[in-house]
Amino acid sequence: MDSKARIAKALKIATDTKIFEMGPGVSAMAPEVFRELFPGKKAKVIADINTWPALGEKVYELFTAAGIPTEKFIIEEEEFHAEWKYVELVDRELDGDFIALSVGSGVINDLCKLCAHHHNQQYLALPTAASVDGYSSFGASISYQNAKQTFSCPAPVAIIADIDVIAAAPKEMTAAGYADLAAKVPAGAEWMIADLMGTEPIIPDAWHVLQDVLDEMLSNPDGVANAEPQAVADLFEGLTLSGFAMQAAQSSRPASCCEHLFSHILDMTHFRFQGKLQSHGFQVAIGTLAMCAAFDTFLSYDLTKLDVDKCVHAWPTLEQEQKRALELFRDFPVPELGYTEITKKYNPAEVVRDQLTKVKKCWPEFRRKLRDQVYPFKKMHALFKAAGAPYDPSMIGVDRKMMKDMFPKVQLMRFRFNLLDLAKRAMVYDEMVDSLFAPGGVWDLDA
Ligand SMILES: [Zn+2]
Repeated sequence: MDSKARIAKALKIATDTKIFEMGPGVSAMAPEVFRELFPGKKAKVIADINTWPALGEKVYELFTAAGIPTEKFIIEEEEFHAEWKYVELVDRELDGDFIALSVGSGVINDLCKLCAHHHNQQYLALPTAASVDGYSSFGASISYQNAKQTFSCPAPVAIIADIDVIAAAPKEMTAAGYADLAAKVPAGAEWMIADLMGTEPIIPDAWHVLQDVLDEMLSNPDGVANAEPQAVADLFEGLTLSGFAMQAAQSSRPASCCEHLFSHILDMTHFRFQGKLQSHGFQVAIGTLAMCAAFDTFLSYDLTKLDVDKCVHAWPTLEQEQKRALELFRDFPVPELGYTEITKKYNPAEVVRDQLTKVKKCWPEFRRKLRDQVYPFKKMHALFKAAGAPYDPSMIGVDRKMMKDMFPKVQLMRFRFNLLDLAKRAMVYDEMVDSLFAPGGVWDLDA
């Protein structure tokens, strides 16, 4: 299936997005699309100091020339993240019945998405980089009261992806997008685990729209690094399909699991490297590598030999888990986070018995399926290296000890059933995590 046919098919399962135009120069179509969707309305270009010259100004001129009443708002900051104060800012800008034209990458889009929703309006996205999958996703990821939170709000009604602009974005933004797309490899494997456990069954439409083409979309890291228009278009399409998968699922499950939580920890602790906040995709890259390495070890176990009785006997009570979570997150910006999430996802011993019995019984077949889905660490490492994404935590300033210390938080900080939860139940968690940081492991602590 070619790209056009794939997109047409994917739009059918997207609940919010009705129009997706992608190609060189397509931003010229924006006024026409706007008129069709929002007859008689006023537009406001929302951009920042980088995206205004990259595309915002051109869009503003196109709209003005087309006779559409258009204003502009430029966020005049060198560095900003999706924080609540900017939500308030953009909210004020949309007062007066404006339709937002989001000209930018992840942050600008998330702000426009949430603020348009606050005004009961749809909006139009004009992405400037293939840096995240958030353009087309349901929900906006915003820091609110110290915690990274996903606010429910619809995706843009139209996305106009001008590949001339997107391919000219800074290379590290495209590499970040590549990593955000690659994250769907281990995230998919963890969804398979949640599906087997019955906590979050796989939704076929949301699974196939992305996972069926994912390997193909990740197969040209050199093209991504060289900003070849076709490679960048394929990457952008993959990221968009990921968003459509989230629209179809009305959740981020198809696109995100443990690998994203490493990034959330760095966001919530305002982690900086060389004075700078690190991009979502770069943070997700090291989480993705961590999860590929964890899967490498996990898939080497023979769980048909699992001693279910022993595991069930050793299974902690809810009170023990809550206590562990409170201790672990004591100095975290949101100290109650682990407690809240483990309380949501805790299973009593008898449920754990059923879960382990199920895994033990189907392990040979299930392991084969997981192996088909997830990439070995070595492969992911080589792909990231070729694409220009970080292939070692140290490249974004995270040392090995920090990396290891993040694992227990990652396990507890979200209600979602993940690989680490399964490893805990099977009593292989410590051994699995330690294997990454032991001599011969991917990130030997003493090397
Ligand atoms: Zn992401």
